[in-house]
Amino acid sequence: MATSDSTPSLDFIRTIIAEDLQSNKHNGRVVTRFPPEPNGYLHIGHAKSICLNFGVATENAGGVCHLRFDDTNPTKEEVEYVDSIQEDVRWLGFDWGDHLYYASDYFEQLYQYAVQLIKDGKAYVDSLSADEIRDYRGTLTAPGRESPYRDRSVEENLDLFERMRAGEFADGEHVLRAKIDMASPNMTLRDPTLYRIRNVPHHRTGDQWCIYPMYDFTHCLSDAIEGITHSLCTLEFENNRPLYDWVLDTLKVEPHPQQIEFARLSLTHTLMSKRKLLRLVEEGHVTGWDDSRMPTISGLRRRGYTPEAVRNFCEHIGVAKRDSTVDMALLEHVIRDDLNRRAPRVMAVLRPLKVVIVNYPEGQTEELEAVNNPEDAAMGTRRVPFSRELYIEREDFLEDPPRQFFRLAPGREVRLRYAYFITCVEVIKDEAGEVVELHCTYDPATRGGNAPDGRRVKATLHWVSAAHALQATVRLYDHLFATPDPDAAADATEALNPHSVEVLTACQVEPSLAAAAPGSRYQFERQGYFCVDTVDSTPEALVFIRTVSLRDTWARIQNTQKQ
Ligand code: ATP
Ligand code: MG
Repeated sequence: MATSDSTPSLDFIRTIIAEDLQSNKHNGRVVTRFPPEPNGYLHIGHAKSICLNFGVATENAGGVCHLRFDDTNPTKEEVEYVDSIQEDVRWLGFDWGDHLYYASDYFEQLYQYAVQLIKDGKAYVDSLSADEIRDYRGTLTAPGRESPYRDRSVEENLDLFERMRAGEFADGEHVLRAKIDMASPNMTLRDPTLYRIRNVPHHRTGDQWCIYPMYDFTHCLSDAIEGITHSLCTLEFENNRPLYDWVLDTLKVEPHPQQIEFARLSLTHTLMSKRKLLRLVEEGHVTGWDDSRMPTISGLRRRGYTPEAVRNFCEHIGVAKRDSTVDMALLEHVIRDDLNRRAPRVMAVLRPLKVVIVNYPEGQTEELEAVNNPEDAAMGTRRVPFSRELYIEREDFLEDPPRQFFRLAPGREVRLRYAYFITCVEVIKDEAGEVVELHCTYDPATRGGNAPDGRRVKATLHWVSAAHALQATVRLYDHLFATPDPDAAADATEALNPHSVEVLTACQVEPSLAAAAPGSRYQFERQGYFCVDTVDSTPEALVFIRTVSLRDTWARIQNTQKQ
């Protein structure tokens, strides 16, 4: 089971749990659950909930966290989502052990609880239409009205509910409602619907059921059935808590789990809702749920994020009771920090410009020693081939450089990383006047990158040997949305960033990458962190994804805030 780098400080939820343990409220038990609805792939917001629920369980001796699929809506749920959710939770480093549950496993039990409510006069079958029910509910300022069917006898209710189950009615003909208070200032208590008719098969129960329980009825009872002690959910359920408690208290179900709400995660430049992400997939704005621009866990995984980085991010943002939006730059900062420590350095030229070293012997090759990770000497060194023809980055040369440009220019000397000092002696252009090749000389005395006479250069460039380099495709990603808050747009797709991906197909990477396994991560020196795409890359046609650039915009944001 995953543990974080440092012990999390006590947020308000951990404080409550510590106090409950102290007072022996739940007989010393801590049982939490992560309860996704399998109607899409998990996103980074879910990661926050997963880290919290599994986190508090593992921090306390004997703590357990259940994975429970909240699968009560047969029209939107699919096995594909059930499988992906399990894969994602495991990838994050968490383990539910034997505790995998489905709300649909409780359908019979829930039905019996509903019958009990009817018998106790606490639930009734309503035959108003959906529109009428909405109309009768009233508004935040006006109380609702009681349905004309509210006073049906227990016998009639039992008979109708049984026939609902037996499939005698069409969708929407009847619903089962709790009998609470149509004048309650809390709208969720105005006789909420407990069951509705849906004549559709369910991905697990097949056509066994044609009535399905609603979330508010299912969730509290599922928690109680599983012996959950602390039911952690996001703030939008605060209004539902009285209903959660009403169901359990009215049915006298013990022990009674405690619902506690915390703020959901929002991130800039993206959307955080399965429903909205599904639309991006269905309308083809992205290539799939695992598109590297998606805030899904599968998208982040494919992008090259590590589970440690995602967990560190969740720890960093903490758990609070007030909603706030986290800057995407923080997530990028965390993965950059993580990869800085673990990713081996290599040289890759994304937009190549040919360089011929005119005084280097034709046909000669030598191998130079390069450091794999300056942050971690244990990662050792590797050998990089050098020869007469090389590629450097096109943007590292300017024919007519401005004063602040210290890289290569006519007549100027720079260092090639781990290799030699070179001086540009001639610029070759095509008919259109575009620079197509540079002729340079090298100083053999500077082998390894330093001049014995102590002369200095102002720039160090990365490079690859033309004859040895491998051609590769590199995808550079930017924010999926051009604005920080796409939800603010009338239609979020209007805020999509038209430049969210740039594909470079003529990149040249050093030959050590020939054996790079799918998913492996590197720093391309001076360019950023990249990983081998797990879907599209093959040994013959390498495809790299840029996880994150080297530019730390989070540090900049923090610095400007300090000023
Ligand atoms: P979505 O709108 O994306 O489908 P949801 O809340 O409806 O989100 P569920 O599958 O019901 O999705 O969520 C499972 C758990 O994850 C719930 O306990 C929910 O509160 C939590 N969760 C969902 N989104 C976030 C978020 N952005 N931040 C923190 N927790 C979240
Ligand atoms: Mg939902």
